[in-house]
Amino acid sequence: MNIVQIYKQFPSHKSCIKHLEKIRWNNIAKCPYCNSTNSTPVPQELRYHCNTCNTSFSVTVGTVFHKTKLDLQQWFLAISLVLNAKKGISARQLARDIDVTKDTAWYMLMRLRKALTEYGDLLEGIVEADETYVGGKNKNRHTDKKTEGGQGRGGDDKTAVIGLLERGGVVRAKKANDVSSKTLKSFIKQNVKEGSQVMTDEWKSYNGLTLLYGHSFVKHAMGEYVNGCVHTNTLEGFWSLLKRGVIGQYHYVTPKYLNNYIDEFCFRYNNRENPNIFDLTMLKSVTL
Ligand SMILES: [Zn+2]
Repeated sequence: MNIVQIYKQFPSHKSCIKHLEKIRWNNIAKCPYCNSTNSTPVPQELRYHCNTCNTSFSVTVGTVFHKTKLDLQQWFLAISLVLNAKKGISARQLARDIDVTKDTAWYMLMRLRKALTEYGDLLEGIVEADETYVGGKNKNRHTDKKTEGGQGRGGDDKTAVIGLLERGGVVRAKKANDVSSKTLKSFIKQNVKEGSQVMTDEWKSYNGLTLLYGHSFVKHAMGEYVNGCVHTNTLEGFWSLLKRGVIGQYHYVTPKYLNNYIDEFCFRYNNRENPNIFDLTMLKSVTL
């Protein structure tokens, strides 16, 4: 849903609350403290009184929207803007778009990213594995890992990101301290079903995958990027989106928050064809 649709469908804070109640509770209020469904509505406050544990609650308890002074409609608009921004949205831009301060926008983005973390099944079939580097100084930004030969990869001021992409399926990525064999293989083992076919480049850290997987690779150093179905181009397409987001929209992402940004990009990429992405985000907002 774009922001015009959000405005029309959710014209008020109250209509947003009602929607969240439907998504989260299927319209049957459930106490977040004792799980009882025996409650009495307090309509003027958009809250409920739990008749079992005698506390008062609203549908935002336990969600990323809880205890903010913001109108829920502003949150809905922010979600729509984040989900529709293929390369991400900066706090400054969000602040302008929904009329909040830059600090508030930054806080909203951090909370939303928390909601967008995905956990899922193991990847299978043909899975591309690759690593990249983000951040760092401008002068190093165009350094291509593929041209660095045997010197190892990336620069000291960049942060490594490792990723996996199931062909026709989802992408999964995270920040890594290094791109050693141990790091890459344990990430693959944790996320890819045994017996899958893993596609990489010739980076030596991927050696030895054949114990658990089929392993095919292209020789980037030899100028080979595609060999039949063997390539890592789909994942590299995702890297380019992520990098444009991190470098362009956010200017600089501290390593501390990098995983949150990556989660946001993975979620958007994995749900790009999902017509229910907005309501899915609502459901995922229940994180506490
Ligand atoms: Zn209760």
